[in-house]
Amino acid sequence: MRSSSSSSSTPAEPDGAFAELLARVQACTVCAAQLPYPPRPILRVSPTARLLIVGQAPGRRVHETKIPWNDPSGDLLRQWLGMTREVFYDVSRIAIVPTGLCYPGTVNGSDLPPRPECAPLWHPQLREAMPDIRLTLLIGAYAQAYYLGKRRGRTLADTVAAWRDFAPDYFPLPHPSPRNRLWLKRNPWFELEVLPALRERVGAALAAGDNGGAKNQA
Ligand code: SF4
Repeated sequence: MRSSSSSSSTPAEPDGAFAELLARVQACTVCAAQLPYPPRPILRVSPTARLLIVGQAPGRRVHETKIPWNDPSGDLLRQWLGMTREVFYDVSRIAIVPTGLCYPGTVNGSDLPPRPECAPLWHPQLREAMPDIRLTLLIGAYAQAYYLGKRRGRTLADTVAAWRDFAPDYFPLPHPSPRNRLWLKRNPWFELEVLPALRERVGAALAAGDNGGAKNQA
C-alpha cells in the first residue's frame, strides 16, 4: 500500500509521483521568514484516503511531536467522531492536512492564523493526489473560509448549522479546542443534532466502495 505521513508512525514508504509531491511539501520554505521555527509541515496523507480532515495549523505541541491532533483538541475531535486513535491515525483511510501546514507561532498566548500562502499552494495538489476522498471535514473558521468562501454563513454557528448545504463534499465543524467549550455550551444543538449526522456521514465515507459515495472536488 502506498501511504505516507510526516509523523513517526509512517506505515509504509510512498512511491512515484505521490512521494515526489510529499517530498516537495516537506521541503517547502515558502514562508520560512514568517515562521518562528524552521518549516516543519505536519500532515498525514495517502493516495487511498477516503476522509480528509482539514484543521487550522499545528500548535506548539503538535509541532514538537509531529503528530497532528495529538492534543486535547484531538481527543475531543475523536470523541465527536466516535473514533479510537487507531482508526483516526489509519493514514490509508484518513488524511489530515491543516489549512497551514507549519506552526505559525503565537501572539499574546494565542496561536497565529495559518500562513495564507500555504493552502492555495498545497491543498489543490494534495487533493488531486488523493482521488478517493469522499468527505472533507472543515474544522474551524480558517478551513471553512478557504474551502467554502462566500458560501459560509455570517457566523461559524450559522455555517455549522447549515451543514446540509455543503453535503455531500464538505462537513463544517467548530474547532474542538478547550477554548471553545463555551461555544459548545451555548449551542447544544451541535451535540444533539449535528454529531449523530457527522458520525453517519463519516462512517459512510470510510465504508464506501470504489463506486459508492460522492467524490469531493477541490
Ligand atoms: S506553512 Fe506552508 S507555505 Fe509556509 S513553509 Fe510551511 S508548508 Fe510552506
